[in-house]
Amino acid sequence: MKYIFITGGVVSSLGKGLAAASIGNLLEARGLAITFLKLDPYINVDPGTMNPYQHGEVFVTDDGAETDLDLGHYERYSSLSMSQRNNYTTGRIYDNVIRKERHGDYLGGTVQVVPHITDEIKQCIVSVGKGAGRKVRVVIVEIGGTVGDIESLPFLEAIRQFPLDVGRKNVLYIHLTLVPFIKAADELKTKPTQHSVNKMREIGIQPDILLCRTDRFISQEMKKKIALFCSLQPEAVITAKDVENIYEVPLIFHQEQLDAVIVKRLGIKARPPRLAPWEAMVHTIRHPSHEVTIGLVGKYVDLKDSYKSLHESLIHGGIGNSAKVHVEWINSERLEKEGVETLLSKCHGILVASGFGNRGIEGKIAAIRYARERQVPFFGICLGMQCAVIEFARNVAGVQYANSSEFDTKSLFPVIDLLKNQRNVKEKGGTMRLGAYPCRLEKGSRAYEAYQQQEISERHRHRYEFNNDYRGRLTQAGMVLSGLSPDGNLVEIIELPDHPWFLAVQFHPEFKSRPHKPHPLFRDFIAASMKNK
Ligand code: GLN
Repeated sequence: MKYIFITGGVVSSLGKGLAAASIGNLLEARGLAITFLKLDPYINVDPGTMNPYQHGEVFVTDDGAETDLDLGHYERYSSLSMSQRNNYTTGRIYDNVIRKERHGDYLGGTVQVVPHITDEIKQCIVSVGKGAGRKVRVVIVEIGGTVGDIESLPFLEAIRQFPLDVGRKNVLYIHLTLVPFIKAADELKTKPTQHSVNKMREIGIQPDILLCRTDRFISQEMKKKIALFCSLQPEAVITAKDVENIYEVPLIFHQEQLDAVIVKRLGIKARPPRLAPWEAMVHTIRHPSHEVTIGLVGKYVDLKDSYKSLHESLIHGGIGNSAKVHVEWINSERLEKEGVETLLSKCHGILVASGFGNRGIEGKIAAIRYARERQVPFFGICLGMQCAVIEFARNVAGVQYANSSEFDTKSLFPVIDLLKNQRNVKEKGGTMRLGAYPCRLEKGSRAYEAYQQQEISERHRHRYEFNNDYRGRLTQAGMVLSGLSPDGNLVEIIELPDHPWFLAVQFHPEFKSRPHKPHPLFRDFIAASMKNK
């Protein structure tokens, strides 16, 4: 087994997650079996309890883990599905160690960061490769945070020790840094990179490869200079150039021969990468035949990362229709103040996103009413579906005070409500309906038309559900329940037949869309929106 460790220096947000995902993409294209691990330095056991403004999207896996959004990149750039074991936080590591201590596993010993915490970290790294249920050749481990942070030190110490266990030749350290262009000097500057590499060396890690984030290609001469100061070969200094769309990153890395350097350094025999399908997909993004504007209505739109997978899925839906998708980010609270007409009139399709709590709810409901009445294609996701049910109940089925008990615990008309099994839940962490559930589709529905199969599986993350007491009233008024749990108890998809495209889902289809395999619902939503131009 080979291990690649990816660290970041200088500043945050350089795109370590995308770099890790792109490396995985290239290694898979060379026919190598890989897996990923994201190590996050914060103390929350998982990001599920964090506000999206703190953390960005929470990515949900099939097995119901609430994970870092980088796992979304890993899935979108590879053929893999991630799981609980592909993401560990400091909190989860400590939680494991403290449990063992209480159990008596360390009886007689003082439990310390070194070796107990670092051993636990190393254990997670080894088990993600060994426990994958298939033969993994390369484990790609991304360390969250920036070198120099106090928080990530135990992780860095663990990966420093790692070659002592598995052999130096089986380990590759890749460090992502910034090479800024300074306008006044009209030059790229290498000093921040030198400092960052020095910081790594203080910890005891000599990077093998540098990914230098820049806005232009780094000259051979400058690569030589960086290489000299940082004790590397010039071939190991790679330009990580800014790109127009994120799916170009693997292609830029390949152009810089990163994959060749990696397999050479790790001593792996691998065929040249098969990149044609990925290149074709990127070509479609670069040369679309059509354009379309989608309004994405949500509460957390000021931080685009809050809806990372949703945004990417819309782009994928565009790829599936050879269309460039312009996403209009629309704050649902602004809809309440400024009115729907002003903000939505230029959108060809409207998507109402997931969310929690009642802030901005009336804006979402107004947007849905607008889409329904004006025949604008509409796609509701999770909370977006719940709002669509409330809107329809209030304005079509005559349930004037319909609401969700999430927004009004005393509501007399809770068309969206908690199921019994959620009523007594006190713990907030990891207790929603999480992960993949099967769903059966109604033949002849738009949902069936999209998926072209009757049984599907999609990922969930919510507490509230469609209240079955209202099935009769809503279906009599014209709503179609086109997707149900196989036992028929849970409503998973609703749609309106006499509308160009009005469909909403209780699950999160965005977690399963990929650029080279756009999700069928996003593809059809974009197609319907294009017709509405
Ligand atoms: N707040 C809603 C629930 O918990 C919807 C959650 C979501 O949109 N992910 O059911």
